[in-house]
Amino acid sequence: MQERIDRIKDQLHAASYKLTPQRESTVRVLLENEADHLSAEEVFLKVRERSPEIGLATVYRTLELLAELKVVDKINFGDGVARFDLRKEGAEHFHHHLVCIECGAVDEIEEDLLGEVEKKVERDYQFKIMDHRLTFHGICHRCQK
Ligand SMILES: [Zn+2]
Ligand SMILES: [Zn+2]
Repeated sequence: MQERIDRIKDQLHAASYKLTPQRESTVRVLLENEADHLSAEEVFLKVRERSPEIGLATVYRTLELLAELKVVDKINFGDGVARFDLRKEGAEHFHHHLVCIECGAVDEIEEDLLGEVEKKVERDYQFKIMDHRLTFHGICHRCQK
């Protein structure tokens, strides 16, 4: 945990930002809930348990900054709520998601399935791809039982 915080601190420093205690509390909540896809409000409620003095606006600004620096990705699964998802370390692209329409579970696919698709798009459309989003909507293995 501390090592990852240190690396995120380095990413902030490289962009001339400091890891203030408020920012660090937000980063810790994201790391502790890495498997979840928390909204800004949900992050705020968890940050507040630890640091009651931090306001929602500060948490919002921190999340926007982390998104700008590509520490987190901002995603929307079609319910109109922006969610924040930590980037996997060393991942070139954003991981893929499986969203269950029955129970709402969000599972992750960490392997990049789009390598061939990207090559084709780059070739056929002369488009330099920097990143992508891929979300499958369906029924999860738990709900199929
Ligand atoms: Zn995710
Ligand atoms: Zn399900």
